[in-house]
Amino acid sequence: MNRIIHLPDHLKNIIAAGEVVEGPFSVVKELMENSIDASAHSVDVAVYDCGLKKITVRDDGAGILRDDITLSIQEHATSKIRDSSGLEKITTFGFRGEALSSIASISDIVILSKTSGESEGARLVSSAGEVTVSGFAGTQGTTVIVENLFYNTPARKKFLKSKKTELRNIRDTVLKMALPAYNISFTLEVDSKREITLPSVNSYDERIRQVFGTQVFNSLYSDELFDLKVKLKGYLSKPDFMKSSRNMQYLYINGRPVENRFLSFHLSRAYDAVIPRGKYPAAIIFMEIDPELVDVNIHPAKREVKLFDQKYIDDMIYNLALKSLNKPHSVPETVFKTHETEKSTVTADENINSYTFSNRPQTIPVRNNVAHSGSYSGNLFDAVNDEITVNTGYRSTGSFKILGTVFNTYILIEDNDRLHLIDFHAAHERMIYDRISENSGDIESQELMFPVTMELPVSEFLLVMENTEIYRKTGFEIEEFSDNTVIIRSVPVIIGSDKIEELIKNMIDNIKDGLKSNDLKERFYSVIACHSAKRSGDKLSVSDMESLGREVLNGSMELRCPHGRPFLFTINQNDLERMFKRL
Ligand code: ADP
Ligand code: MG
Repeated sequence: MNRIIHLPDHLKNIIAAGEVVEGPFSVVKELMENSIDASAHSVDVAVYDCGLKKITVRDDGAGILRDDITLSIQEHATSKIRDSSGLEKITTFGFRGEALSSIASISDIVILSKTSGESEGARLVSSAGEVTVSGFAGTQGTTVIVENLFYNTPARKKFLKSKKTELRNIRDTVLKMALPAYNISFTLEVDSKREITLPSVNSYDERIRQVFGTQVFNSLYSDELFDLKVKLKGYLSKPDFMKSSRNMQYLYINGRPVENRFLSFHLSRAYDAVIPRGKYPAAIIFMEIDPELVDVNIHPAKREVKLFDQKYIDDMIYNLALKSLNKPHSVPETVFKTHETEKSTVTADENINSYTFSNRPQTIPVRNNVAHSGSYSGNLFDAVNDEITVNTGYRSTGSFKILGTVFNTYILIEDNDRLHLIDFHAAHERMIYDRISENSGDIESQELMFPVTMELPVSEFLLVMENTEIYRKTGFEIEEFSDNTVIIRSVPVIIGSDKIEELIKNMIDNIKDGLKSNDLKERFYSVIACHSAKRSGDKLSVSDMESLGREVLNGSMELRCPHGRPFLFTINQNDLERMFKRL
C-alpha cells in the first residue's frame, strides 16, 4: 500500500477547478459574476475559438486593489464574505473565492485592474504557475484574459462538446446572466465579431424585449406576487404562446439563475386547462427573497440553492402562474408581416371595433428582431423556433360564402374582402361550452336504455361517489352499483351514448386536481364540450358549416376554445395583395 501524502497545492487547485469549470462557458459565467459583483455598468465578453484559445471579460466596476491582486487568484481568497455570519446572507454571486484560483490553475491568466482611489492600477500575469505583478495605466475597472484553457487537463478538453455546442453554451450564459441585470450593458464578441449587444435599460420589460424580441414579449403576461418574505415577478406564456420544450423556463433567485427541477411541473399544473399535450409554457420568474432564507452554498457552480421552505415557494410560483392566466385574453396588436419585408408592418383596418385583423402564425428568427434598442444574432433561447399564434376578434357583415373544408379540419369562408379559416372542432367546442354554461345547472339529460357499469380503482370510485351532485348538475345520473363499481343511468343529451367511459374517466382526472366545486363544474363543461364537438375528420354538411360560421363571425363568441386555443384566422384581401406585390 502506498503512503498517504498531502497533495501539492497546484494539484488541489486543478482538482477543485474540475468542479467549477465544466467548459469555457463556466469561465465566462464566473468572470461575468465577478464583474456584476464589482457593480460594473458595462461588461464586455469576447471569446476566440469557442473560448479555448482566449476569453476576455472587461468591466468598468470597482476594480481590485493593487495590494490584493495576487490574493485574487489564490484559493479561498475573497473580498465578499468575512466570517460565517457573512455566509448566512450572501448578496453577491461569489463568496467561495474559488473561481479565479481554479481558472488560473488550468490556464494562463492576465488580470488588469484599477480602482478609483489609486493612481495606478496593477497587471497580474500568471503563466504555467508563475505569477508576476507590474503597473497598469488603464482606467477604472477590471479586465481578465484567460488563454490556453485546459492546457494541463487534456482529459477535460477531450470531453468538451462540439464547438457549436460550446459556443451555444457561452451565448446562453451571457444572455442568462444579462436577463435580470437590466441596468448593466453587455456585449459578446465571438472571434472578433459582435454577436450580442444589450445596452443598459430601466426595467425587466425592456431587457426581456431586447433578449427575446417584441413579438415574444407581447406573448407573455407579466405579473407580480408578493408577501412579507418573497417577491415574485414573472413573465409567463399567454395561452397562445406555448413551447414544445421546457427550454424557456427560467428562475432567478436574487438575480442568480438557478435550476429548480420542479419549476416545470408547477407551471404545467397551473396551465393544465389551456395547454395542449406536449407543450410547455414559457416562464421567466425573478424571485427576490431575504438572503438569510436562501442557502446558496450547496453547489460548487452555485446552480442550485436551498430555500427556507420549498413548498411555500412552489405554491407561490403556482399561484403566480394562475394569477397571470386569469387575465382576460387581450386583443392582439394588429400587425401583419410579409416574408420579404420583415420590417414593413402593415396595419390593418383602422376600425378596430368592427373587426380585428389577425396575425398569421409566424416564426421569427431573432436575427430580425433588431427594431428595439438591443440586439443579438444567433438562434438562442429557442423561443424563435416555436409558433406564435395570435387571437382574433371579428364581426362579419353577415353575408359570406362557404368555400369548403381544408385538411379535414378548417372551414374556409370568403366574406366580402376577407378570407377566414376556422378550426371547426375548436369553434364547435366553444359553441357547446357556451350553451351549456348558459344553461348552468340545467343540462338536458337522457336516460340510457342500457345503463353502463364501470369498475374503478377504489380511490377513484370514492371520488366519483363524493361528487355525484356535480355529475348530476352536468347531466349524469351516477349511482353506486356494487363494491367499487358505479352505474351510469343518464347522460347529457348532447353527448349521445358512446365514449361514456372515456368521458367519466376524464372527469375523474379533473376531480383529482382538487378543484373547488364551481371550477370543477366548469371543467366538466369543457370536457363535455370537447367530447361532443365535431372533430377534425368528421363530415360536416354545408348547413353545419354555415351555422358554425355564422356563430363565429357574428362577434358574440369568445374566439378561443375552452382550452384557450384560437380558432379563427382572417386574411384581408389588401394584405394578400400586398403579399403578392399587387399593391
Ligand atoms: P469570489 O467571487 O467567490 O470572491 P473569485 O475567485 O471569483 O472569488 O474572485 C476573487 C476576488 O477577486 C473577489 O472576491 C474580488 O475581490 C476580486 N475580483 C475578481 N474579479 C473582479 C472584478 N471583475 N472586479 C473587481 N474585483 C474582482
Ligand atoms: Mg467569483
